[in-house]
Amino acid sequence: MKLIFCPYCQDVLKLLAERRACECGRSWGNYVDKRRASIGGSAVPLGFDNESLVSALEARPQEGSGQRFEAFVIAVSAESIEDVGSGGGIQFRGPVARAGELVAGLLAGGGGAGDKRTGAAAMRRSGSRGRKG
Ligand SMILES: [Zn+2]
Repeated sequence: MKLIFCPYCQDVLKLLAERRACECGRSWGNYVDKRRASIGGSAVPLGFDNESLVSALEARPQEGSGQRFEAFVIAVSAESIEDVGSGGGIQFRGPVARAGELVAGLLAGGGGAGDKRTGAAAMRRSGSRGRKG
């Protein structure tokens, strides 16, 4: 299963045949066939190992620590992903982001607040749901 991660709003969403955008509209993508996906904006592609996910779902405990499954960040250059955006060039800060502060500290150079929105935001929001901050 392929998903995209938006480094700006930290939205993670499953890719579908129909193009979808993240909460802030800066990342988007869709499947072009059963195996290949097209992504754009700042989207970073993620993969869930399906077998491992199903095993974890089946083994979901009643309490305690949840069951782990395998997820991975798909390589910048991958046969199954056509990246028409800039997600492959994004620099992540490293230890600062890992320590917490995911929203504010994830991107190198503090990217975020002032960045331009893309057409995807408008495409996704045909109406009302404004987001502040
Ligand atoms: Zn976003």
